[in-house]
Amino acid sequence: MKRNRRAKIVATLGPATNSAAEIERLFETGADVFRLNFSHGAHAEHKARLDAIRAAEKKFDRPIAVLADLQGPKLRVGTMAEGGALLEQGQAFRLDLDDATGDSTRAPLPHPEIFAALKEGTELLLDDGKIRLRVTEAGDGFAETVVEAGGRLSDRKGVNVPKAVLPLGAMTDKDRRDLDFALSIGVDWVALSFVQRPEDVAEARKIIQGRAAVLSKLEKPAAIDRLDEIITLSDAIMVARGDLGVELPPEDVPSLQKHIVRKCREAGKPVVVATQMLESMISSPAPTRAEASDVATAIYDGADAVMLSAETAAGEYPFEAVAIMARIIARVERDEAYRAIMETSHPDPEHTAPDAITAAARQVAETIGAAVIVTYTTSGSTTLRAARERPVVPILCLTESTETARRLVLAWGVHGVITRDVRNFSDMIDKACRIALSEELAHKGDRLVVTAGVPFGTPGATNILRIAWVGD
Ligand code: PGA
Ligand code: MN
Repeated sequence: MKRNRRAKIVATLGPATNSAAEIERLFETGADVFRLNFSHGAHAEHKARLDAIRAAEKKFDRPIAVLADLQGPKLRVGTMAEGGALLEQGQAFRLDLDDATGDSTRAPLPHPEIFAALKEGTELLLDDGKIRLRVTEAGDGFAETVVEAGGRLSDRKGVNVPKAVLPLGAMTDKDRRDLDFALSIGVDWVALSFVQRPEDVAEARKIIQGRAAVLSKLEKPAAIDRLDEIITLSDAIMVARGDLGVELPPEDVPSLQKHIVRKCREAGKPVVVATQMLESMISSPAPTRAEASDVATAIYDGADAVMLSAETAAGEYPFEAVAIMARIIARVERDEAYRAIMETSHPDPEHTAPDAITAAARQVAETIGAAVIVTYTTSGSTTLRAARERPVVPILCLTESTETARRLVLAWGVHGVITRDVRNFSDMIDKACRIALSEELAHKGDRLVVTAGVPFGTPGATNILRIAWVGD
């Protein structure tokens, strides 16, 4: 089964898409990567989803990526009496460590370490920014505030402190338990939420030890200040526009999205644009024009993947959402303007052998009108460099490693196939042609551009490029 597009779709699983049949249908409809959202659901539910994904992988004989998204240090108020209370503009409101249920004068904020980071004048945003508080006095374990924008505050609503770098690690105790579990069931990617500093990514990497690839979610202004270092330490990035758009004015998010995507493309790291892409489809079978345009924009920007959250996890039209997203992507990719943008925004190769070879592979493929670029890879790094080139043709990634094939599903244009390593040049060419044919990426008479590393059988840098002809 091959896709008719290069950019990928990440679909979040949830109550709307729990059964094996629904997961299979999401994959058939176009979901390439499945996101297990550890902010919701019990471990047993995530395990059942993972089993269904692996069963689909077998059935369709295609690698599928699983992304475990850790909740991260998201701050929340505690419980409120009667489920919630109205906060009126101009009134005083207190946050403290008292366990007693909150009311219209105060609420518990059970995060002792936060209070030290608050000062007079600090802005606090509650419930996705719907309620705004300004600190008038902060002390040990409490903050007095004034309500600048009021609203009903209900149980366990999120709290954002946009301007501060909070004294929080990358992971809470819950995250560590979830991470252990996610690694034990064999997820391919781990997403870190609310990354603030490069050290947060380094800390997680130390625990993960290469057992999964690491995606950093950019949803804090502090992370944007150290974007380059965070990209360097991460295997992929997500523009997490939900929280980012609360922490920053919404008008800043579009240019930031473009900036982050460009930086990731320069670095050759997969980048996912996420949140509210087809939000209205949670309860409507068709997207708004603005939503269609938003998905298209992410693709024109050159994102590797676009994500669906509640649309597939809890919405009424999960399959319709994936289907229309796939159609929008394919349509943009047929636009000449898209190709022109990919050409002009194309980053220069770095001065390394793999970049020299993959840049040449793209040029050769375009010059001779090849059907596909074939990359032999062990770690996947050469294939990512080939994807960074954004060639016109698909990239067939041949690898011995199941993990590599699964991880690379997230990357633009990559169609992975797991196969034994090759022993010599004729084996290399035969295999490339045979698999390109069987995967319907090439037809008889087509030409292929193949990259690999010699000596064969030893993982190492790519150093050769061959043109092959698909014969009889
Ligand atoms: P979330 O992350 O859905 O886990 O909050 C994405 C975002 O904030 O955009
Ligand atoms: Mn978020």
